[in-house]
Amino acid sequence: MKLFPIETKRDRLNNGSRLSRPKKRSWINNRLTFALIWGTVYVCLLNAPMLDIHSPSDLENAFMSWMLTCLLFLIACYSAVFFVSLVPFAFLAGTLAEYSERVLSVRLSEPIIASLFEMDMTAMGQGIIAWQALPWIAAGLCLTALCLFHRTRLEVFRPLKTRLLIITGYLSLVFFLVFFLPLGLIVQFGHPYDIFAEVGDYWNSKMQVTFAHARKFDIASLPATYENPVSAQPLQVILIIGEAARADHFSINGYVRETTPLLQKENHLISFYNVSSCGTSTHISVPCLMTRATRENMAPATSETSFISLFRKKGFYTLWVSEQGKYGLGAQRTQISSISGESEVEVFNDKNFSLAASRRNLNSHDLSLYVNQLEAYFQSQTRSSSRKMLAVFHMAGSHFPYHWRYTLPFRKYAPTCPDVLPQLCPREALINSYDNSIVYTDFFIAGVIDTLKNKNAILFYVSDHGEYLGEHGRFLHGQETGDAELRHVPMFVWTSDTFNRLYPGKVRHMREKQALRLRQEFLFHSILDCSDIESPVINKKSSVCAQWGE
Ligand SMILES: [Zn+2]
Repeated sequence: MKLFPIETKRDRLNNGSRLSRPKKRSWINNRLTFALIWGTVYVCLLNAPMLDIHSPSDLENAFMSWMLTCLLFLIACYSAVFFVSLVPFAFLAGTLAEYSERVLSVRLSEPIIASLFEMDMTAMGQGIIAWQALPWIAAGLCLTALCLFHRTRLEVFRPLKTRLLIITGYLSLVFFLVFFLPLGLIVQFGHPYDIFAEVGDYWNSKMQVTFAHARKFDIASLPATYENPVSAQPLQVILIIGEAARADHFSINGYVRETTPLLQKENHLISFYNVSSCGTSTHISVPCLMTRATRENMAPATSETSFISLFRKKGFYTLWVSEQGKYGLGAQRTQISSISGESEVEVFNDKNFSLAASRRNLNSHDLSLYVNQLEAYFQSQTRSSSRKMLAVFHMAGSHFPYHWRYTLPFRKYAPTCPDVLPQLCPREALINSYDNSIVYTDFFIAGVIDTLKNKNAILFYVSDHGEYLGEHGRFLHGQETGDAELRHVPMFVWTSDTFNRLYPGKVRHMREKQALRLRQEFLFHSILDCSDIESPVINKKSSVCAQWGE
């Protein structure tokens, strides 16, 4: 049995005729029938628009999807290379996307694909691609096998001239799709086209980061000033970037549960309780708050350096410690690690600094085992530093699975959700686990604050985005919605006694803005302005330390 029946010269000689045809023609082994059968099977089983028809335009889309999918399988009859490279991917992408949408209520969009690759891979691997996905993967493989078997039964193909014509037509179609049809248009035709487009988008944006990296405009090349306050200790600026933490689950913002008991005791803590996030995924929000990018204009996230370069130029020791991944898909840096690369020292979760070691201690009551090596390293750096310093800590925070984010002493609310799929737990247990991760976050940040108390220091905390905990039937994050569950993020500033004495005006201006509607993008301007750096890149109207109004 040949896998890809193409008529060879020997076949023709054996058959004794120039154009071989089987003696008995079977309708099922006709190429057009093959395309129609598999196109229909695909759209009926796996194509989202075909499954959710509510209006005439949905019907139109579904018809187009069906036509396009049949075309895909028709081309797959003629080109073995096309079949091998696209058909298995189309089936697997389709089944995984359906699994993600139907089981996790998450559409496989570019930010989700990015977070799949760029978050701590072990956690994502075990957390999201759980065993529950295996039947879906098996279904994708079965469909591919059946389709391949059917293809082997097809009649022998037309002569070379006809095949050349078909290949030329196919290449022209690919050329048209790649160069003239915007990827955004393909998305509406559902699986597998939207997955092709989203993976393509992710890959493109990663390549863009790689190519743009060397050509980034260095904002530190503009004239800027920083004056060391006379006879004062060197300034320590700390930024802790939270992960998937919601403002309304922090008791410093009025949450009924006491999730932040230690931060509540800090007198010099100013919580801005009305802040909205730039994006709903890590790889949008973090570059947005580190650079001059805004939700309306994300270009500076790749075209310019972040505020790290400016601190470094002004003689600050710059440190980036991250509990998240450095590379994602491929060996090039991500948009975030392209930014962290601006700092003098960067430390990621790897064999030297492991998160895994701490996971072994999840059930321990021994408080000395509570922190992982990255957290312990960061606290030792903020404790011992005697230079002026900018230190950034990028947390795993409250990223799902929540029960991985805290150890036993922080299991304040029970029962918890031990599962790797949020939908499988009662909502109350899911929220208990999530709140415990906030209790742990409170403990970690309060620990960092303790290392700064006798110094000239300012600490910022902001979460990248929120999280659905079952509201509107949704879970996790990354969905491109404007819902408060994803957009309303915690942000606060803590300042030391020395800082308060040196900059009373800045502290007063911050207190005045606590209740105002602020944007996460303000962090870029605020961290520079609050640290008393002057530069033309700072917009005082976006700084919480500046005086607004008259
Ligand atoms: Zn995130």
